[in-house]
Amino acid sequence: MASKTDTATEPVGERDQVEKSPQAVEEARREAEVSGAPKPGQRAEVTNLEIVHHYFNRAADRLGLADDVRTVFWEPYREVTVQIPVRLSDGKIHTFSGYRIQHNGARGPYKGGVRFHPDVDIDEVRALASLMTWKTAVAGIPFGGAKGGVNCPAGQLERHEVQRIARSFMDKIEKILGPTRDIPAPDVNTNAQVMAWFMDEYGKLHGHTPAICTGKPIALEGSYGREAATGRGIVYMFREAAPHLGMTPAETTFVIQGFGNVGSWAARIMQQLGCRMVGVSDASGAIRNDDGIDANALAEHIEGGGVLAEYEGSDRIDPDGLLAIPCDVFVPAALGGMIHGGNADRMECRVIVEGANSPTTPAADEILTDKGVYVIPDVMANAGGVVCSYFEWVQNLQHFRWDEREVNDKLGNIMRRAYREVSGRAKKERLPLREAAYLVGIERVVEASRTRGYI
Ligand code: NAD
Repeated sequence: MASKTDTATEPVGERDQVEKSPQAVEEARREAEVSGAPKPGQRAEVTNLEIVHHYFNRAADRLGLADDVRTVFWEPYREVTVQIPVRLSDGKIHTFSGYRIQHNGARGPYKGGVRFHPDVDIDEVRALASLMTWKTAVAGIPFGGAKGGVNCPAGQLERHEVQRIARSFMDKIEKILGPTRDIPAPDVNTNAQVMAWFMDEYGKLHGHTPAICTGKPIALEGSYGREAATGRGIVYMFREAAPHLGMTPAETTFVIQGFGNVGSWAARIMQQLGCRMVGVSDASGAIRNDDGIDANALAEHIEGGGVLAEYEGSDRIDPDGLLAIPCDVFVPAALGGMIHGGNADRMECRVIVEGANSPTTPAADEILTDKGVYVIPDVMANAGGVVCSYFEWVQNLQHFRWDEREVNDKLGNIMRRAYREVSGRAKKERLPLREAAYLVGIERVVEASRTRGYI
């Protein structure tokens, strides 16, 4: 279901119609295989769903999972699609589609963010939901996996319009949510404010329930440290890996693709360690400065209404050129499929720490492996957000608040444990980290499902 209006010819909620039927996806994939490049409307030669499916199947093969068992762990448990008609400031009704997909709840309540972006479609939400199942298992926190999304162009809408969409979405999916059932959180284009609206709307029906979502503002029982947690977790991962790779922070350069919540916090905390940011991008464009770009000043510039691509003292570059900047660490923190078969060979980094979900396609992964690039995959690297969401949920259930230091210390413990467990497995079985992480995650979910008697 694409977003559409009743009368507008170029509606706000409309996007270029990318054909997403199975035949069209298959056709685009075949064409991309031949040309090695993404087709118009696609970021990569494969969809996010195909990326996650590929890695899942590889791990399932290695674990010897039978086909019938595999189906249980591949297909989502529950999928809900809702219609969200909203009258926008152009006076017209725009009809958006909202999705909540609960992939697997064997290890605990479903958990996953909600994305507001025009490219959201049900397959992308399915991919992100299953990734959450493996991620919570790798991190060893007691949640299942879910994801939500609305295909609205939140970045172009007025605040009150986003509020109406957020409240309407919550109103329509609340029956499948709950603090012991399914707990949403922020993702692309949603933030603490959107979580406050979610909580308020849920509270109208169920009474004050802070544990219904995480990533809330501090004033509304949010957790200290949650906003920066995904970026901080990425830096914890880098710090664990660095000594084994012979890297020291003071001599480390890095590039950030997507200076939003995840990217900007990763940049600020990397900089605290003494690392130097030499390139950065967001949807407005990309900039480069080999002498360093101050991540704190850039974040202030953007918070003050400035545009990244117009940040002074740096050279504006073609966004495609960002990947080719020589650096030690590259952090993709924008959208899925941005490192693909058509651009991976141009990358000049030693390490990739995946902040975004599914930023690297399987074709790119092979190229990077051949080039000797060390990839710390999304399924472990960006778990900091959901780990801190777990802390927020625990605090909400107890109506007790921890200070930021306690939160960050506990986050560090869990991220380090995840890195050690996955890298230990990778070493033992001579596998890349991504494959080892999927093995660990899938094994834990299968074990929980068997013990429960679910399969
Ligand atoms: P965000 O909306 O705060 O930031 C996204 C950033 O990407 C923005 O700066 C945007 O301008 C930029 N961007 C969009 N299109 C781009 C393009 N074509 N090129 C370069 N930059 C582009 O979102 P976020 O919460 O920081 O999420 C970023 C990624 O991290 C997503 O893939 C998300 O799923 C993943 N993630 C987020 C969290 C979290 O806690 N927020 C947790 C785990 C994973």
